[in-house]
Amino acid sequence: MEDDQRQELLKLFRERLTSAVRMYMENCTRCGLCIEACHAYASSPETRYSAVGRAQNIRRLFDRYFKLSGKLAPALNEAIDLDDGWLDKIYETAYTCTGCRRCMTYCPFGIDTQTIQGIAKMLLIGSDKEPKVLSMLSDMSIAKGQNIEQTKQTFAQAVHNLESEVLDMWRSEGGQEAVPLDVMGANVLYVALAGKHSMIPAAAIMNAAQEKWSLSYFEAVNFGAFVGNPQKTREISQRIIDEAVRLGVKEVAICECGTAYRVMKQQMGELPFEVISFVELMARYLREGRIKVDRSKIEGRLTYHDPCQIARNGGIYEDPRYIIEQLTGEFVEMQPNRAANWCCGGGGGLVAMGEKDFRMKSAKVKADQVRDTGAKVLATACENCHTQLSDLNEHYQLDVKVEYLSNLVAEALVQD
Ligand code: SF4
Ligand code: SF4
Repeated sequence: MEDDQRQELLKLFRERLTSAVRMYMENCTRCGLCIEACHAYASSPETRYSAVGRAQNIRRLFDRYFKLSGKLAPALNEAIDLDDGWLDKIYETAYTCTGCRRCMTYCPFGIDTQTIQGIAKMLLIGSDKEPKVLSMLSDMSIAKGQNIEQTKQTFAQAVHNLESEVLDMWRSEGGQEAVPLDVMGANVLYVALAGKHSMIPAAAIMNAAQEKWSLSYFEAVNFGAFVGNPQKTREISQRIIDEAVRLGVKEVAICECGTAYRVMKQQMGELPFEVISFVELMARYLREGRIKVDRSKIEGRLTYHDPCQIARNGGIYEDPRYIIEQLTGEFVEMQPNRAANWCCGGGGGLVAMGEKDFRMKSAKVKADQVRDTGAKVLATACENCHTQLSDLNEHYQLDVKVEYLSNLVAEALVQD
């Protein structure tokens, strides 16, 4: 690595050194309490996959370039030079961290490994070594925002083609479009994923609640967040923010996508509308009696996987459980659950990157946790989790039916 490039990368590193990050860098006592907390380490005990192991890769660079002791006597302080070999090492541990932050809840100092891995990702992006598929998908999302006027007609036609399937789930309300677009002054702008599984049940539920809603032209998923590029993360979210402002909506409801929800809710600053998860919206409709569900539709025991970005990192624990209580009398909790739930192992862009061998190996604890419930139905509220849990189901022969919470609610809607 040329020294010019190293200096550029260190400049990026320095820009990330907030007081919180300095605390994460300087306060680790190597107590090891976070080691067993990572599903990857718990499934396959290799130090490089422990939270502290991942963080040390960055901490040793910090010591080398930002601490006097590391600058003066690097070898004595385990400080390490930034070079191509070290970047390869960082790649392996940064892009296998799902950003679930389970480790953080076990650390006495609240050290946030996801944030530390954000530095690793930024160094890799700066040296053109990030996973190209994630950057390419980010760029496609941004380009869609720039060319939206040319693609609106095609999107509207594709959405129109889904309407009969929505009406199969919920009858047509008088004069109401089954999947409305461009509704000025809507109460809710619903941001779906690319794919009808994310649109049809949600549309049926909002129509059943007689909501004044509008479907977003943009998909919720934020590949900029997965790759770790803050500028692209912002640009991808900004498309949705601009649309919500143009329509003057009261709330933006993010579909069952944990990262999209957390980015919009926690990382976009003050917004002129509320940001909610679709899980919260469904729970609200049920509490207010705006929709009713049949408790006899689900056969067998049901368990629920808390998506990390909605539950541990988003604080939404009780709404999904309230919804499930309305759907079935046969709910069984995973152990542990809520903030201590095991990550499914599919987040952080791993599903989009493929990485199936690693995903299966690193999530054995999740598979064991699901099997121990004896459930026949495994519900969740995040597409990444749904894909990963479906892969685990097949790989570990768990014999469960993996379901989106929204699909269970839509299929149980009572047409009175
Ligand atoms: S954030 Fe999750 S995946 Fe990353 S080190 Fe911590 S527990 Fe492991
Ligand atoms: S629990 Fe916290 S202080 Fe202990 S080793 Fe892990 S990161 Fe360091």
